[in-house]
Amino acid sequence: MSTGPVQPTEATGLGIRVRNLQRTYGRGSGTVHALRGVDVDFAPGTFTAVMGPSGSGKSTLLQCIAGIDRQTSGTVLWGPTDISALPERRLALLRRAQAGFVFQAYNLMPAMTVEQNVALPAVLEGRRVDWTVVTAALAQVGLADRRKERPGRLSGGQQQRVAVARALYGRPRILFADEPTGALDRTTGRDVLCLLREGVDIEGRTCVMVTHDPVAAGFADRVIVIADGVVVDDLERPSAALIAEKLSGLAC
Ligand code: ADP
Repeated sequence: MSTGPVQPTEATGLGIRVRNLQRTYGRGSGTVHALRGVDVDFAPGTFTAVMGPSGSGKSTLLQCIAGIDRQTSGTVLWGPTDISALPERRLALLRRAQAGFVFQAYNLMPAMTVEQNVALPAVLEGRRVDWTVVTAALAQVGLADRRKERPGRLSGGQQQRVAVARALYGRPRILFADEPTGALDRTTGRDVLCLLREGVDIEGRTCVMVTHDPVAAGFADRVIVIADGVVVDDLERPSAALIAEKLSGLAC
């Protein structure tokens, strides 16, 4: 969907190393063990899908490895940096500099134009907006010609592509996505997944995506399956049939 020729570049992605990651919510008899000791590595420039039954800990894992939520114990390294040891302010700065996020809800501001939405994170941080980069990010998702419109005039798939452009504006080395196609039909979902794939193949970005959809997972290099807060399967380029088989053995 990108316009113009794009040349492969050196891998820019950051690797992620997760060790004995635990996250509990609540206390006493109401304690929920959302993550019970997760060990997993995400190599730089790879695309991993995280799957598993509802309530198995997928979103909690993504939020902890993305530095949005704090684990109860264990470590998360981005490249050489132990993000679990960083104070909140430094973590926020690192997150802004290195990571992009795409969620199921597009979280666009309806009163702003498409291009203002893409620039919003930079504006909120008090950074100077580079409108050439904003337009380039929108061109990459095929929406440069819609940049002066409000998001409400776009389809769901187009709005999610704006959200992807917003995540790409800062040229993140890691992209975290939580059910990015959950609200989209198959065709528009495919467009978004192609964009994530392109970022990995062309820019060497590291991408970690939570999904319940085996077709979406088919865009990844690897699928890890979470059940009851631990990794129970780690599959290299599995077929949709194998994914379905692995998931059907778990309570979904
Ligand atoms: P998934 O993404 O696989 O559906 P989650 O990571 O959202 O699973 O949740 C894992 C477990 O942690 C679930 O039992 C869920 O109810 C619980 N949980 C998640 N967030 C919270 C929270 N903020 N407070 C209490 N329990 C939570």
